[in-house]
Amino acid sequence: MAEASTKSDYVVGVDLGGTKILAGVFNGSMECVGTSKVSTKAQRGLDAVVERIARVVQDSVDEADLSLKQVAGIGIGAPGAVDFPAGTVIFAPNLEGWKDVPLKKALEKQLDVPVFVENDGNIAVLGVHVAELKGKPRNVVGIFVGTGIGGGLILNGELYSGYGHTAGEIGHMVLQVDGPKCGCGNKGCFEALASRTAIFQQIKAAIKDGQKTLLTEILGEDLADLRSGDLRKAIRRGDKFVDRVIESAAEFIGIATANLVNVLNPEVVVLGGGVIDALQDEMMSVIVETANDYAMPGTMKGVEIIASKLGDDAGITGAAVLARKEAKKAA
Ligand SMILES: [Zn+2]
Repeated sequence: MAEASTKSDYVVGVDLGGTKILAGVFNGSMECVGTSKVSTKAQRGLDAVVERIARVVQDSVDEADLSLKQVAGIGIGAPGAVDFPAGTVIFAPNLEGWKDVPLKKALEKQLDVPVFVENDGNIAVLGVHVAELKGKPRNVVGIFVGTGIGGGLILNGELYSGYGHTAGEIGHMVLQVDGPKCGCGNKGCFEALASRTAIFQQIKAAIKDGQKTLLTEILGEDLADLRSGDLRKAIRRGDKFVDRVIESAAEFIGIATANLVNVLNPEVVVLGGGVIDALQDEMMSVIVETANDYAMPGTMKGVEIIASKLGDDAGITGAAVLARKEAKKAA
C-alpha cells in the first residue's frame, strides 16, 4: 500500500555491470515494486555512465509510481574494488577508464538521496543470503560466474569484507601456475580459467586452430553475438568439443569450491551468475563431484553446494538489502 508507506520504506538497488545496469525499487517488506534496465555503454566515458545510472534509478522509481523523495537510500553493486566508506570505485577491470571514481558523491549530487557503493560479489552474496536463504545459514560462500568471476563471503552471519575491504576476490585465486593471463595482470587466476570470457576465448582459439563445432553453424565463423545459452544449445545437440570446454570450466569451479570449503567450512556454497544460470544442468553435477574429490576428507560433510534461484535479481536485491541496512544506520 503505497499511500500508507513513509519515506523510509523504499530503497533502490542498482546492479552496475559491464554490459547493462539494472535498478529495482523495494518496499518495506523487501518486495520489488518497480524495475528498469539500460545498457551501460562504458565506451562513452565515465560521465555518461553516471548519467545512465541516475536515469535508470529515476525510471525504476517512476515505474513504481513513486518519487525520489520517498526513497531512503540507493545501494549500488559495482564490478571492482570499492572504497566503501568513501563510495569510490577504485578500479573496475570491466568498465573502461574507471579508476578512483567518486560514484557516491556524483550520484548524491544528482539524485539527492544517500548512496552506498559496494563490490558486486559482496552485494550478490548478501542478496542470496537475505532473500533466498532467509538469513539462516551463518556461513555462506558465493561464487558468481559471468564476464568475470565475483565472490562474496558471509561469515558468522555478516558480510565479511576484510581488513582493507577487499576480501572475497575469489576470481583471483591462482588455480594454475603459469596459466592464461588474467585481467588483473596475474596468470592462471580462477577467472582466467572458468569465466565466460575465458570460456569464449578457449572456444575461439580452438576454432582458429581448426576445431569443428556446431557453434559456427549456429552463429557463423566469427561467432558474433556468442552467448552462454548458445553453448547449452550446442551441447544438447551433441557437440562434444563445447561439452569438454564446459566440463573443464566446471572442474575449475569445483576445485575453487574445494579450496574455499577447506579454508572456511561454510554451511552453503552458492553458485550464480550468467554462466551458471545458462548451464546449470550441464555444470552442477561436475562441480559437486570435483569439489568432493578435491576437498580434504571430512570437510564437505553437510556442506550444501547449490545454484542460486535469484538469477539476474541477486544484484538488485543485495544492493537493496545494503541500502536498507545503511540508511537505517544513518537515520
Ligand atoms: Zn586475476
